[in-house]
Amino acid sequence: MSHPNLKLPPLKQFIDGEWVDSASERTMETIDPATGKAFAQVSAGDAEDVDRAVKSARLAVEHGPWTKVPPAARSRVLNRIADLIEARGEELATLESVDNGKPVTAARMADIPSSAGVFRYMAGWAMRMEGEQIPLANRPQGQFLAYTQRAPIGVVGQIVPWNFPLLMAAWKVAPALAFGCASILKPAEQTPLTAAALVQIAQEAGVPAGQLNLIQGLGHVVGAALVGHNEVNKIAFTGSTEVGKTIVRSGADTLKRISLELGGKSPTIVLADADIDAAVAGAAHAIFFNQGQICTAGSRLYVHESIYDKFIDRLATVAAALKTGPGLDPTTQIGPLVSEEQLRRVAGYVEIGKKEGAGVAVGGDAVGGPGYFYRPTILTHVNQKMRVVQEEIFGPVLVATRFKEIDEVVAMANDSVYGLAASVWTRDVSKAHAVARALHAGTVWVNCHHVMDPAMPFGGYKQSGWGREMGAAAYEMYTESKSVCIQL
Ligand code: ADP
Repeated sequence: MSHPNLKLPPLKQFIDGEWVDSASERTMETIDPATGKAFAQVSAGDAEDVDRAVKSARLAVEHGPWTKVPPAARSRVLNRIADLIEARGEELATLESVDNGKPVTAARMADIPSSAGVFRYMAGWAMRMEGEQIPLANRPQGQFLAYTQRAPIGVVGQIVPWNFPLLMAAWKVAPALAFGCASILKPAEQTPLTAAALVQIAQEAGVPAGQLNLIQGLGHVVGAALVGHNEVNKIAFTGSTEVGKTIVRSGADTLKRISLELGGKSPTIVLADADIDAAVAGAAHAIFFNQGQICTAGSRLYVHESIYDKFIDRLATVAAALKTGPGLDPTTQIGPLVSEEQLRRVAGYVEIGKKEGAGVAVGGDAVGGPGYFYRPTILTHVNQKMRVVQEEIFGPVLVATRFKEIDEVVAMANDSVYGLAASVWTRDVSKAHAVARALHAGTVWVNCHHVMDPAMPFGGYKQSGWGREMGAAAYEMYTESKSVCIQL
């Protein structure tokens, strides 16, 4: 079982600074979605491995060197991690492509530099764990000195999905390390490779033993053990809304802090005055980037009726011309979906849509043959009640609707249990602001989509999640505030 020319990282557990087998010595297969064939065996952990990692993390966070060294030293290590990610960029992009299916060109352009960028940004925050001096309101001035102090939240369980394996791990690990937390990282079972490489890089960069542990394994085993563990102070989760709800229920027993970055059904709204060339390219990118397997996918398209027919024609032409193929082929624009399960889910939703009365402007079926390929698809003649309009498909499937009035499109856009993101395409600055203000979404893009930055807080309204990651919001997420009051 092998993959030609692939340099694999250690596929074991990383606990207390050592690569080890799981206590049970069980393993699981990892599959190349372009062929459907297994190419590596990965250690599969369980509650016992989680417990060992938590003990190591607890020791690190209470007594380890990481919280004692000058913040600038932590900052240097985070910068070194960024440098090493860049130095190993080509290798990481290849691993990501083989593991997840995504085009290697996309991994090179997006996943790898963005992951390095998160560490570099968070390196700055390591030196900014500032509190505030508070003038007391009801005491004579000068009798008390009160201030807030920030402390790392402690041991954090960080559970990440398979759609951007390295980048999602970076989003979790970088702030945890910057703010002095000890992390137990749990990658998705479908994509174990680059998280292992990241842990290797972190060790080489100087992250001490116990500060960052890695437990590979199944979600309902390893993830559930982290969520249930008494000594884990916080769970940071990115994944499905369904699992997010399970985590909230089982995390309630210990009242641990929980942050959730969940699903979406984000609208792309094209107003009558939009730059049509830019909006067609933008709408295609919004839904087809990463095979539509991105929580901010612009999966509902609303186009003004005056331009709707022309717009759908042009978008369908763009979709039909996208080149589908294995991720490692540098000419590929659409890779396979991550797994057979995901292919079945996407194909199932399109069938549901057809039964509900949707029309197919382009695509609408799997490519067939080996690998989990699905054609870029646009469904028309849909209404707000249909499941394909309400539920997250997480694949290259767009539903398109026409609208007349801005109030009407805002109401349709907000008619969703989700509220992660949205984009608005217009040349009218007043309309752009008005629509951005009216939308119930954690991120609103104007004349762009999927623009993320480590300085910009990210998260969702409604069932898209709890809390915001990145930017100054990460500080709230990974620290506790302590008020200190001194009588003078
Ligand atoms: P998807 O449906 O896209 O695969 P999931 O929400 O199932 O997304 O997976 C996201 C992450 O959550 C993965 O790392 C997975 O292993 C983990 N996970 C799955 N089930 C649970 C669970 N019951 N408790 C904790 N983590 C879980």
